[in-house]
Amino acid sequence: MHHHSASIAIIGAGLAGLWLAYKLKSSYPSLEIIIIGPPDERCQHVSGWQLKSLTAADPFIEKSTIATFDEWRIRISGGEEVFHKADCFIYKTIDANRLKQNLRQYLSTQEGVFFKEVKALDYRCEDAVWYVRTEYGDISADRVYSSVSHQELSSVRQQFIGIKIREALSNEMFLMDFDIPQNSSAPRFVYALPTDTGYLMELTTFSEQDDPMSDALQVLQQWSIARLGRSFDEDDILEVEQGVIPMDSDYVVQDDVSYLGVAGGAARPATGYAFRQILLQTEFLVSAFNVDEAKSYRHFTRLTTWMDRVFIRVLQNQPYIAEEVFYGIASSLSGDQFSAFLMDESSLKEKLKVILSSPKLPFLKAAFI
Ligand SMILES: Cc1cc2nc3c(=O)[nH]c(=O)nc-3n(C[C@H](O)[C@H](O)[C@H](O)COP(=O)(O)OP(=O)(O)OC[C@H]3O[C@@H](n4cnc5c(N)ncnc54)[C@H](O)[C@@H]3O)c2cc1C
Repeated sequence: MHHHSASIAIIGAGLAGLWLAYKLKSSYPSLEIIIIGPPDERCQHVSGWQLKSLTAADPFIEKSTIATFDEWRIRISGGEEVFHKADCFIYKTIDANRLKQNLRQYLSTQEGVFFKEVKALDYRCEDAVWYVRTEYGDISADRVYSSVSHQELSSVRQQFIGIKIREALSNEMFLMDFDIPQNSSAPRFVYALPTDTGYLMELTTFSEQDDPMSDALQVLQQWSIARLGRSFDEDDILEVEQGVIPMDSDYVVQDDVSYLGVAGGAARPATGYAFRQILLQTEFLVSAFNVDEAKSYRHFTRLTTWMDRVFIRVLQNQPYIAEEVFYGIASSLSGDQFSAFLMDESSLKEKLKVILSSPKLPFLKAAFI
């Protein structure tokens, strides 16, 4: 058995793990970091809004950005639509696989950064030293961060299947289109947008059960014909993307190990957006590196957490009203207010607007019963 040691061990070489390694190394160049986990080469697109006025983004993020939008549509069954245009916010899509590759490449040139491309089996602490067990031996470190979740996915989760088509089928972005064949216990929508590397179409569902979405390709094909007037061949599919995002994750510090990314509660319960929180969480962890405050980090405001929990209870009780809820929120807010709301940057007044736009009875029941 081999034994390796470093000051920091990061479990999981996904977005959160690599991003933390990059940011820690930038702030503390002499730090020794071991990143433990198989190379993550999944096809993955990650999007979200940010203020246009924010200063220049990180160069790695800039190099991975493949689409930006300030307009989008939200459509419900029957064809009613909300069209949003944002002035202050911009929606960005990142090729997360490219971002991970670039981070890996950069980190592998840094002195004191090591990759162990194996799974962590468990970890323990003895006399203030951490030991991460792998099948090739123990890795010891002064501190451990983990982006690997041990939580059961017990509640509603967002599940999706996406494809990228060679040809640009449209210039428009459809944020949520519920006007597709629905399943009353697992509402679903199409999300579609053009990128520099092809046209991305995803079918997303909210469901408590594992939903294999075996008809995904057929639904996307029908949607493309109905909405864009274009069909695609299987040969046109460049990439397939698949994912599950929990809608009930929480920030966890267990046995003094800091959990990161989605495993550390970065995914917004109601939407699954996690990337922005991963960046903020990392900033916090790096700034708290030399102090013992990492345990008190909160991703979302209390009101947002409460609203999202109520929303998820509504989804569990009456899943089929999801489209009415999203449509109500979208039509009560401007493009900028909607972006701010989804990124948890909205004012109390805007949150109240959202509460008032929601169907009263299901929400009252979910909130108080
Ligand atoms: C397909 C997809 C699309 C998404 N789209 C968006 C989006 O548009 N906007 C947004 O904000 N968020 C999005 N998310 C949510 C979130 O941003 C991503 O899930 C992001 O990848 C989270 O990063 P992470 O490092 O926390 O988790 P992960 O990316 O899941 O990384 C965890 C890593 O740990 C590794 N691992 C697992 N077990 C072990 C083990 N025992 N030992 C070592 N390593 C292990 C895995 O292989 C993986 O590489 C998306 C998620 C997915 C899956």
